[in-house]
Amino acid sequence: MRVGIVGGGMMGVSIGYFLSQQGAEVEIYEASSRLGGLADTITLEDGVPVDRFYHVILSSDSHLRQLCEELNIADRLRFRETRMGFYHQGKIFSMNNMVEFLRFPPLGWADRFRLGLTVLYAQFVRDWRHLEGTSVEEWLVRLSGRRTFESIWRPMLRAKFDGGFENTPATYIWARLVRMKSTRKGISQKEEAGHLIGGYMTLVEAMTGQIEARGGKIHLRCPVEEIVMKDGRAIGLRAGQDVYPYDAIVVALQIPIFRRLIPDADPSYRDFLGKTDYLGVICPLLVLDRPLTGFWTLNITDDRIPFTGIIETTTYIDPEFVGGHHLVYLPKYTLPGSPWQRKSDEEIREIWLQHLEAMFPHFDRRWIRYFLVHREQYVEPLHGLNSTHLIPQVKTPVKNLYLATTAQIYPALTNSESVTRHARRVDQAILEKSPTPIPLSPEAAARMATVDTLA
Ligand SMILES: Cc1cc2nc3c(=O)[nH]c(=O)nc-3n(C[C@H](O)[C@H](O)[C@H](O)COP(=O)(O)OP(=O)(O)OC[C@H]3O[C@@H](n4cnc5c(N)ncnc54)[C@H](O)[C@@H]3O)c2cc1C
Repeated sequence: MRVGIVGGGMMGVSIGYFLSQQGAEVEIYEASSRLGGLADTITLEDGVPVDRFYHVILSSDSHLRQLCEELNIADRLRFRETRMGFYHQGKIFSMNNMVEFLRFPPLGWADRFRLGLTVLYAQFVRDWRHLEGTSVEEWLVRLSGRRTFESIWRPMLRAKFDGGFENTPATYIWARLVRMKSTRKGISQKEEAGHLIGGYMTLVEAMTGQIEARGGKIHLRCPVEEIVMKDGRAIGLRAGQDVYPYDAIVVALQIPIFRRLIPDADPSYRDFLGKTDYLGVICPLLVLDRPLTGFWTLNITDDRIPFTGIIETTTYIDPEFVGGHHLVYLPKYTLPGSPWQRKSDEEIREIWLQHLEAMFPHFDRRWIRYFLVHREQYVEPLHGLNSTHLIPQVKTPVKNLYLATTAQIYPALTNSESVTRHARRVDQAILEKSPTPIPLSPEAAARMATVDTLA
């Protein structure tokens, strides 16, 4: 079977790897000059490669760890105990273990108890479909109480959804609580975060090495412009003037891009695809000569600060692996049409730095080695209340054409653990096999009680 894959991000490359393992002849078409997509690295002016966006591997990411074993790169995984905190009313609070949690000063005893119960309760929800029609606000107020919602949850949700979270189902926070709890172990509830030396590109390169060793091909700087169809079936893909024929085509892209590639598909299918929106991101990377917060993640509960949180990845990546730099990411998620995306890099830099200076009075701009603003339009699919029927299936109405996209991973969060898991199921759908059960951790089992979008 000859399979053409459009998109060389984590999804496209993983599907290529799994398909080539099963004997398919695979060719991947990637628009840019490098593979990796959102998980790619950039090279700093001093020649050091670093993650363009912050990427963490949790100790509970069992599928990803198994994949690293299989590819003989598990020795490049590194994990460290990390710390999480809150920036609340001008102060930093560590929220790292039970004792700190029980002492968390911004909340009273009763509220802290209810917050703890919220986290625990989420672990026991087995059927997420019950949460699909409940708004995140209704669920959190019911469990944590109105005061905690207003002081902690509302500002965090506003930040994540660029102000507009009203139509978001409770599944969003449930999946997040389950994932974050999964990495916290034992009575101490200490958390571990990790990375691959070289970033996720180490994994992407290991998979492409195997694809090429089995005769597969990677075409870089090769944007696909159209999926060519005949009599209701996909027969090839067009890049520039050339059409390349395949037995099956897998599009591993975000839905709006996929939609543009199929002008000849049934208009009702194209209308259906037009219903999914995405969060975008503006994510400055601050490269410093010293640590800033000491926290892996500092959640911000102050509406006036434009960034969602402060993520210092060199709390779990030893700076020796990134040229001795300290890497701090300051993401701002954006709704489609957000005025923030129209601001220039210079404006973003100035606004961001002024807020950092207000938060950390000792912060000095002379610590900055580089300040790089990265942006993307399609980062996280937005899923509204009761809208699973809007998730497109892997098998499209066009014969021999498959769509593998992060929107199908719902309600799990989109990260490389869930993307590579999904990729394995997609490859089985293409080869018309019944899915092989993938060993699941108990946490993953809860999370992966997902819609079977392969039906
Ligand atoms: C700020 C941020 C933080 C994140 N944090 C984490 C984290 O901590 N842990 C984690 O595991 N994950 C994290 N993720 C998520 C992770 O990066 C994504 O889930 C994953 O990379 C999605 O991969 P993908 O292949 O589906 O999409 P993409 O990475 O977007 O890949 C799509 C590829 O298709 C290419 N393409 C587009 N159009 C065409 C065309 N016409 N023809 C050919 N090629 C085309 C693009 O250039 C791109 O390379 C984060 C993402 C962001 C943005």
